[in-house]
Amino acid sequence: MITTAIENSIRTAWAKKWDKTYWAIDIHGTILKPNFSATEVSTEFYPDAIPVLQLLSKRKDVVRILYTCSYPHEIEIYLKHFAAHDIHFDYVNQNPEVSNGAYGYYKEKFYFNVLLEDKAGFDPASDWARIGSLLKAYPEPEEP
Ligand SMILES: [Mg+2]
Repeated sequence: MITTAIENSIRTAWAKKWDKTYWAIDIHGTILKPNFSATEVSTEFYPDAIPVLQLLSKRKDVVRILYTCSYPHEIEIYLKHFAAHDIHFDYVNQNPEVSNGAYGYYKEKFYFNVLLEDKAGFDPASDWARIGSLLKAYPEPEEP
């Protein structure tokens, strides 16, 4: 279940004193309802996605990475659409903050702690609300 994965990543981050976790987030079937159009981008949010993504956008301990196979010109439209709803992403399909090291090779697969993706089991009808509750239980740590 996605909340177990998120809880584990936050607990690990806190235990290891990491200051952030990296969340890769898909668009279609995860944030927005697909419209199955080749010419029009999707715009309709899953209702529970908005408040949770707004909350994630405010947290300094969460890096948001848009994880999408959309075309570059569509990505521009999506980022504006999200920003208009106070939802912001740090990167698109990459994580330049984590480079190759002893534990991994990140040139061809970027590093993330959490993956929200309907093809990987995320259910937008129920998982956004679950994540919203979980984030209340794991608020952003106070600055030291
Ligand atoms: Mg999808």
